[in-house]
Amino acid sequence: MSIKVKLFLAAAITILAVMVYSFWSEQHQGRLGAIQSEALTKNFQAINSAAELKHAFVIYDDLIVRFILTNDAGLAEEAERYKKIAGDRIAEIRKSTKSGTVIKLLNDLGKESALYFADVERMTRFYQETKFPEGSPIEIVAVWSKRFPQQKQSLTLLSSSGRSRLTRIYSICEKLLDINRVEIERAQSWIEDLLEEGQKAFGWATAIIFIVTGAAALLLAFSILRPLGVLLTGVKRIVSGDLNFEMPITSADEIGTLTQAFNSMTRNLKEKQEQLLRETITDALTGIYNFRYFQEVMRRELERARRYERPLSVLIVDIDHFKQYNDAQGHEMGNVILKMAAQMLRETLRAEDTLARYGGEEFVVLLADTKKEQALAAADRLRTAIETAQFPGGDKQPLGKVTVSVGGAAYPVDAHTTQALIERADRALYKAKNDGRNRAAWT
Ligand code: GH3
Ligand code: MG
Ligand code: MG
Repeated sequence: MSIKVKLFLAAAITILAVMVYSFWSEQHQGRLGAIQSEALTKNFQAINSAAELKHAFVIYDDLIVRFILTNDAGLAEEAERYKKIAGDRIAEIRKSTKSGTVIKLLNDLGKESALYFADVERMTRFYQETKFPEGSPIEIVAVWSKRFPQQKQSLTLLSSSGRSRLTRIYSICEKLLDINRVEIERAQSWIEDLLEEGQKAFGWATAIIFIVTGAAALLLAFSILRPLGVLLTGVKRIVSGDLNFEMPITSADEIGTLTQAFNSMTRNLKEKQEQLLRETITDALTGIYNFRYFQEVMRRELERARRYERPLSVLIVDIDHFKQYNDAQGHEMGNVILKMAAQMLRETLRAEDTLARYGGEEFVVLLADTKKEQALAAADRLRTAIETAQFPGGDKQPLGKVTVSVGGAAYPVDAHTTQALIERADRALYKAKNDGRNRAAWT
């Protein structure tokens, strides 16, 4: 996944988390508000209705008493209005409630109020009927004195039963009020619980948002920084010269591509370096080592021979009458012969022997861990290999074929330094030439 995609994903996760969070919190708060207002409104309405109900009974009773005392028809009308209000409120409460207790209270209230209204009606009728009789004052007094004790008794009875009914009605109204007050308290504590739960849920939701977005940011940072760290360590190793180090590819993003590019750059560099190294130690024409490298190897081997007290031999191989070959066959053909001879010498030698071009048509051989006798045998093997090989135009050579002369020297019997050993071998070669060529010599 590329860094661009990773960044986009992290941003998308954060935006999505925040959007979900805001949507959820808005919904939650809306729901809470609706519950709160519904519960409170319903209960406040019920309280209102119950309070108005009681108030209607109180006023009604007051109006009736005043009507009885004054016989004012307006008061009776007003009382009727309050009676209707009481009925309406009862109907209202009945409609809005589901509580069994409230319904039972309303039923009781209905019965009590019906009885109370009946009492009131009888009482008012009684007053209507007991208007002052017509006739002379003496007749009136006679009627009154007969009726009064009876009327007084009935009125007292009616009034006291009305009072006690009214008290019961008031107490039922109070009970209705109490029920609704308790309901409001319950609703309030329920809402408080809901709010507390909501706060907890908000807390959790906030924590989850932080964790989700934090984790996304950390993952993103980690997935970028870790491969970068690996890349940096690798680059440092390569800069310090370790071209063999292949950096591990830890991500499939731009850093992974960069690491791949670095690896292939390092491989190219290494190949170039190896090629350069090969070229600096190789003779361009023959492909075998050059003399500079030979000297290096010889110094090392001589050091080893000294330390472990082991023998070591050097041979110088020179093509006989090469000038004549060049003259007869041309310089180009001379080059071919040089290459062929070098290859033949290399094939005749052991892998652990070092062969180099000494210069011109001369080669030099280092035989590590080899005594003079063994070196003499090796020198003769080389000479024979060339003598028996078929070289183009070899038959035109003074000896009828291409041949070589070899001069040798051995450590520690002949000399002790690289230079002295080569000089001794050179001298031996000179001897071989003087002795008629196509031979190996030792001084
Ligand atoms: P001798 O048997 O005494 O060694 O005789 P020679 O002719 O081989 O020796 P001399 O030193 O007289 O001549 C060496 C010749 O080798 C001279 C030179 O032109 C030739 N030569 C040297 N280097 C190269 C080369 O790279 N290519 C070719 N074709 N010829 C070379
Ligand atoms: Mg020569
Ligand atoms: Mg020569």
